[in-house]
Amino acid sequence: MFKKLRSPASQLGGIVIANPCPVDNVEIIQAPLPDKVVLPLQQRMGDEVIPCVKVGDKVLTGQVIAQAQDAFCVSIHASISGTVVAIDAQTIPHQSRLKSKCITIKSDGKDEWVEHKGYADFLHELPQTLVDYIQQSGIVGLGGAGFPTHAKFNTIKPCHTLIINATECEPGIMCDDALMRHYACEVIRGVEILLYISGANQAIIAIEDDKQKAYQSLLTLTHNDKINIVQIPTKYTSGAEKLLIRSLLDVEIPANKFAVDEGIICQNIATTKAISDAVIKGKPLISRIVTVTGDGVAQPNNFEVRLGASFAHIVALARPDSHPHNNRMGGIMMGIDVKTLEVPICKVSNCIFINHTKAKVNIQECIRCGQCNQVCPVGLLPQQLYWYAKSENTDKAMDYNLDSCIECRCCDVVCPSHIPLTQYFSFAKALHRQKTQGQQKVDIARERFEFREYRLERNKTERTKMMARKKEELKQKMANDKTQKSKIAQAMARVKQEKNGNKI
Ligand code: SF4
Ligand code: SF4
Repeated sequence: MFKKLRSPASQLGGIVIANPCPVDNVEIIQAPLPDKVVLPLQQRMGDEVIPCVKVGDKVLTGQVIAQAQDAFCVSIHASISGTVVAIDAQTIPHQSRLKSKCITIKSDGKDEWVEHKGYADFLHELPQTLVDYIQQSGIVGLGGAGFPTHAKFNTIKPCHTLIINATECEPGIMCDDALMRHYACEVIRGVEILLYISGANQAIIAIEDDKQKAYQSLLTLTHNDKINIVQIPTKYTSGAEKLLIRSLLDVEIPANKFAVDEGIICQNIATTKAISDAVIKGKPLISRIVTVTGDGVAQPNNFEVRLGASFAHIVALARPDSHPHNNRMGGIMMGIDVKTLEVPICKVSNCIFINHTKAKVNIQECIRCGQCNQVCPVGLLPQQLYWYAKSENTDKAMDYNLDSCIECRCCDVVCPSHIPLTQYFSFAKALHRQKTQGQQKVDIARERFEFREYRLERNKTERTKMMARKKEELKQKMANDKTQKSKIAQAMARVKQEKNGNKI
């Protein structure tokens, strides 16, 4: 049996943030097929995948159009049927309008699927066969991180506990709530597949206590003794992987380690459903549920949409008003601002916030109120970290565990001086990395220099020894020669003497 919650989340830090845009009826609306899709070849992790189609090719929905080249990548599939019209650089969802190589498919309006068949009888397959199939099905973490799902199972450490993270990452996002209500059966099937693959003794589905309908839907369908559904307090950051593990199992994962190192595998709930779709029905990951919300839309809701459709395609369905907007992908806390809605929905696009543009706040000096220290879910001292980060004293900041900061922005939210603390921490981490890498380079250069000096010294010593040896050998040879010469001289003298004797 799993351990009980170690302590209420109220003692673990973090903050309660009201849903900025509550919705009475959480639904999933099927978005219409887009006219075209743009599918980036560079995913959140691993190398860019290699296209296996060319411009002009006809493709079917679910067909592989780019293949993974390394163990950390997953394949990309056509999310609609139609014609490949471009393979070029397109703007992707990024705060600085970054461009990346993409495959663009123009729809033929038919949505004709490639033939697909999974492993409905998965218990008769080898776990590794299913892990490989998950990779081929293009599945990555759908909670926002985009970590390749199969990679968590390719570890040598045996897994004892599987945690299914059913907490919405941030207030306002409701796509996982909707998914659990509407696809509870697929979710439970997905958990059973993961239990089989991982060999875990137990699975814990962690769900926030404000999602009672979703909780009931899962509870009704759970008949497996190995699966437990645990409600946790609705509090921002309690769903962060390491914090969730700490609260459920009382296991602390250090900053430089991963959950798999402790025999724990965490999967997001939407990823679990995607695994079920792939393994049971043979459907690769070609769509996802996206929340569109914010005070700039009249009908916030969840939309199931094909990957590669534009943000604008589903934002239009939520009826945005005509005010100037700030567009954000992900949550209000940890998401990123995007300048344009003409960017494609990716596997990690769980939410789009459309908010009215607000006046910039005035940043003031720290008044040492200590409020930031009280909310940090990791138990850090942001006030202290701020001073060290500001003065670029990253060694001292690391002494105060800067590397454990999960950049959740809880401290930013409560700071009465509106100091963007997390930005300082993120900068200080990057600076420290740069410094240590710089130091590593200096160390390597010093080692090389010292080795060169040692080598030169050794050569010099060896040469001196060799010269001395040769000198000695020469001396010896000369001495030998001298002896030889004297022997010859003696012999010749003897011969001469003998000759003279004979004459007499
Ligand atoms: S951003 Fe970092 S320091 Fe601030 S509350 Fe979150 S974990 Fe703590
Ligand atoms: S909350 Fe802001 S003002 Fe208060 S101590 Fe922290 S950084 Fe300073």
